[in-house]
Amino acid sequence: MADAKQTKPRAYDLAIIGAGPAGLAASVYASRYKLSNVVIGPELGGYVSTTHLVEDYLGFETITGMDLANKFSEHAKKFGAELVQEQVSSTSRDGDDWVLKTWTDKEIRARAALLAVGTKHNKIGVPGEDKFEGRGVSYCVTCDAAFFKGKPVVIVGGGDSALKGALHLTEFASHLYVVHRRKDFRAEPTWVDRVKEKKNVTFVLENELVEVQGEQKVTGVKLKRPFEGKDTLEVDGVFIEIGSTPDPTLSKAFGADMDDGQFVLVGDTQRTTAERVWAAGDNTTNSAMFRQIGTASAEGSVAAGDIYEYLNDPKARWSDRGPVSETAPVQRIVTD
Ligand code: NAP
Repeated sequence: MADAKQTKPRAYDLAIIGAGPAGLAASVYASRYKLSNVVIGPELGGYVSTTHLVEDYLGFETITGMDLANKFSEHAKKFGAELVQEQVSSTSRDGDDWVLKTWTDKEIRARAALLAVGTKHNKIGVPGEDKFEGRGVSYCVTCDAAFFKGKPVVIVGGGDSALKGALHLTEFASHLYVVHRRKDFRAEPTWVDRVKEKKNVTFVLENELVEVQGEQKVTGVKLKRPFEGKDTLEVDGVFIEIGSTPDPTLSKAFGADMDDGQFVLVGDTQRTTAERVWAAGDNTTNSAMFRQIGTASAEGSVAAGDIYEYLNDPKARWSDRGPVSETAPVQRIVTD
């Protein structure tokens, strides 16, 4: 009978959970440091792949999110990353190794783990929102805009995601309403200006959506305050882009502390409070105030450098580089 020890799969130096810019940049650096690494994530490129246009990532004046996501994953693969397009469902420790199980029960062992899982779309929480998800309500403009060609739609939100999404929707919709609860926008002014230039857009400001209405499909939305004498907008599609929040499931599974917004507490080199677990990208306290492709990939790169040093220094102590819940930055813009 085979010795149970011999049946253990080999441990990677690093398991990266999340295949967005943070995870893939970490993989490129890890590979160059000769750390064996695996990137586990269902969607190569993460949120980037669902973004219409990217115009603020250095070196690319304008590129579609899908093209940039492909470039990221090709780069990581070329330098030696193994990619597993699955979700991690559980974590445990076996000596110094992290043991990860995926949804299909694949076991992945690694000496270090990097949590780069990004964030999940927020919901408004109004009647009809859940009922009509996939039947007129969408959280992904790039994925769904084309279904509304020649039809009136509404987008909710005033940040970069909403304004970039609005710009894309103007190419398809017969008319677009941008509903935002304030009159000032959080988005880069460039996006706001470009949406304002479009002829098929109406801004409905200082107003909120209180209900999604319909029968089999969406037929309209109810507003908190009347707009041009009516309290409903007749639309076929409702796009919701009101920010996003980290999913705490894996942070908890690794035993990594979070702040009150579920962002993983990290120190300067992206170490978390759980030994041999680093975090990088939109799900960390370092990114909570400003979440960009550039900042996510920078965090992934910093983490990979620290992982290399940590794994190659027998005297390294986890506590030497933080984190350090009390000192990690927890203040950020709250968008409730
Ligand atoms: P965000 O910046 O947090 O903006 C969310 C927007 O939704 C805000 O305007 C907010 O209103 C509104 N909002 C929040 N909760 C609401 C509610 N319950 N009802 C109605 N409106 C609500 O989110 P984001 O646009 O998804 O961006 C997230 C991060 O990713 C940001 O750091 C952003 O810069 C970054 N990002 C960057 C790009 C880029 O191209 N550079 C693209 C996408 C995202 P208030 O303004 O009143 O709070």
